[in-house]
Amino acid sequence: MHTYSIPETPHATDRQIRTVVIAGGGTAGWMCAAALAHAISPACRIVLVESEEIGIVGVGEATIPPLKLFNQQLGIDENDFLRAAKGSFKLGIEFNGWTRPGHRYFHPFGRFGIEFDLLPLHQYWLRARLAGTSQDEITDYSMAWQMARLSRFAPPRREPNNVASTFDYAYHLDAALYGRYLRRYAEARGVERREGRIAEVRLSGETGHIAALKMQDGSEIGGDLYLDCTGFRGLLIEQALAAGYEDWRSWLPCDRAVAVGSRHGAEGLIPYTRATARAAGWLWRIPLQHRVGNGHVYCSEYLGDDEAAGILLAHLEDEALGEPRFLRFITGRRKTCWHRNCVAIGLAAGFLEPLESTSIHLIQTAITRLLALFPDRAFSPLAAAEYNRLTALEYERVRDFLILHYYANERPEPFWRARAAMEVPEALRYKIDHYQSAGRLVAEPYELFQNPNWLAVLAGQLPLPAANEPLLDLRPGVPAERYLASLKNTLTTTAEALPDHAEYLARHCPATAQSPRKP
Ligand code: FAD
Repeated sequence: MHTYSIPETPHATDRQIRTVVIAGGGTAGWMCAAALAHAISPACRIVLVESEEIGIVGVGEATIPPLKLFNQQLGIDENDFLRAAKGSFKLGIEFNGWTRPGHRYFHPFGRFGIEFDLLPLHQYWLRARLAGTSQDEITDYSMAWQMARLSRFAPPRREPNNVASTFDYAYHLDAALYGRYLRRYAEARGVERREGRIAEVRLSGETGHIAALKMQDGSEIGGDLYLDCTGFRGLLIEQALAAGYEDWRSWLPCDRAVAVGSRHGAEGLIPYTRATARAAGWLWRIPLQHRVGNGHVYCSEYLGDDEAAGILLAHLEDEALGEPRFLRFITGRRKTCWHRNCVAIGLAAGFLEPLESTSIHLIQTAITRLLALFPDRAFSPLAAAEYNRLTALEYERVRDFLILHYYANERPEPFWRARAAMEVPEALRYKIDHYQSAGRLVAEPYELFQNPNWLAVLAGQLPLPAANEPLLDLRPGVPAERYLASLKNTLTTTAEALPDHAEYLARHCPATAQSPRKP
């Protein structure tokens, strides 16, 4: 329960925020700087402090569809951005071996076909599967999957009754290059960048608010509102303000990752991410234009660092580009991301492993929330309470979605048996129970992952539900089997007519500068 008291001072224009200080210049810092520059500069001064010596995490390479909106709101041209970030298109994620070794399924972006009845389409698929009259997977009705398996890409059509309008897409991108791109955007709109190491965070003795950032060279940077984008260390929110951290390792115990780029191999530029389960974690494969991003997320309780790196290197499809880089993390979130005059965004706010590519998205929604609740210098505790309430809800629902991937497995290794035996959060249990009893999907409207996302993973990793919706049996006249067969056929032929993904990129948004990609 949040506690707050109603502020005595009403909003007044002489109380407006005059300077925002952003500590940190990783993806989070520069996304904040670009969005704030677009929204409130020059009325408000924006200063970003970063240290090249410390550097950034910058492993973020796979995203989800709402990032398109972030860029559009900033007026960023898609082709220009993809050229700069050496990005490619992403239609979803292929999960290999999560249910059991040798099994695979796809989590596509967008819907499953076009609804044709008052009951959801997947209920008719389920009935046919339960009756044994069809062997189709639910993804066979997904436009994104039909395109992904053929490595095709073109943007969705805007005609509601055309199957080519039923998918969505995101990007694979080089997060460091995206950060640089946003830096150019932000600096062109007045954001001041200060290079140097923050040595100390000075607090006001009276209010406990942040008064200034003391730099290593002795200078001070002061402002009204501080955004902590300093990454895992949470220099402002944790080290200075001790906001506290909620640790979710009992559900999501992976706590290490090792990452390395590689040259493209025979598989080429496929338009999707791949996540392959391994004995004590999973491998990611993210195709960019100039290289493939690879990594191994693992649990240190079950696997040593050398072994984890060995598994990663053994599964590269071509030569590694550089040395493997190790990262440590604790899955969870800051107890209060907005604390006094400081808002933590990015890795400083919390960490959910990159299984569903949500970190950059959580930066985006944090910025949207901050702008919606933007304070004045009275710093109403009401705004902070609402910000923290919404942030907690968002993190928890994403957390549950990730837990499902680990929980619903039949793999034999000790790490996986322990995951299958865990007690999952109540809100997740509720979703699983609904699905298992009648194939029912019950995501809340505010959740990031909606019913089609849940369906992909529930159907991909769990056995078929016990029954379909009872209402379906009262509607025997719906010609569903004919419809589904025709839908699958239309999706396939529509996908076959689209351009090859690599050709589409080469024509519209080839990476700037030299590309070490093999032909
Ligand atoms: P960082 O990149 O760590 O940046 C911190 C900044 O703070 C740096 O500029 C640093 O110089 C500065 N700083 C810190 N201390 C000081 C100081 N004392 N003085 C001055 N400056 C300081 N996200 C996705 O969306 N998709 C993915 O596929 C994905 N994969 C990931 C895989 C792994 C293994 C990890 C760990 C993360 C992944 N992420 C992914 C997350 C993504 O990389 C981050 O969300 C993103 O890079 C944001 O990081 P950040 O800006 O919060 O922190």
